[in-house]
Amino acid sequence: MNRKKIVAGNWKMNMTIDQSNDLINELKLISENNVEVKIAPSFTNLYKAVAILKDSEIEVIAQNVHSEMRGAFTGEISTEMLKSIGVNTTIIGHSERRKYFNETDLVLSKKVKASIENSLNVIFCVGEELSEREKDNHFELIRTQITNGLLDLNSDEIKNIIIAYEPVWAIGTGMTANTQQIQEMHEFIRGLIYDKYGHDISSMIRILYGGSVKPNNAKEIFSLDDVDGGLIGGASLNFSDFNSIVNAANG
Ligand code: PEP
Repeated sequence: MNRKKIVAGNWKMNMTIDQSNDLINELKLISENNVEVKIAPSFTNLYKAVAILKDSEIEVIAQNVHSEMRGAFTGEISTEMLKSIGVNTTIIGHSERRKYFNETDLVLSKKVKASIENSLNVIFCVGEELSEREKDNHFELIRTQITNGLLDLNSDEIKNIIIAYEPVWAIGTGMTANTQQIQEMHEFIRGLIYDKYGHDISSMIRILYGGSVKPNNAKEIFSLDDVDGGLIGGASLNFSDFNSIVNAANG
């Protein structure tokens, strides 16, 4: 199946409002053609980002969301709040959320459910630590993360999920997984979706790779059979690098 590629930039906790506006104004120059381009600025920059990009094909997405709709959850942001400013997609389960903010599979599955119930699309991240790979436990770990995070969704709900495979040891380290490691894990993940939802859904679900994707390796990674684009951290903070990565996805 011909799946449209996605290049999504995760800006993490970077960029003041002025820096964000400057970069977004440059990003308007990106010619996407056959790629879906998304950027995930911090919460403080989202509203303005949506306004600047209102006539652009670039989608502004969130880095995180809370599972409750409203109430006494100091410091949190709900699905409804995101939707009210024109944000229709969120990242959930980034390894930094799992690691530094103790977001467990249970917490993440609640966030996924709340998002889908409130029509917020999800980029759901999974990935193993190096120690898990060294113990040869990486496939089992990814199976657990996918099963706990996603597989209680029904067939209509799962269609609103994009999966990002991000080996933790490759994030921000300059170390990418090699092409065999990437392809075999993406194929494994698609197989998990196949086992639960069947052929049609598994062949339409997009699976992104993340972990030190740069202009010099993007083309090779994006050419792999089960790779449908990338989730880009560091290289999304710079127009020229991000633009090159989008071009690499354009074929
Ligand atoms: C990420 O944070 O999702 C990521 C992939 O970061 P980097 O590209 O910097 O490795």
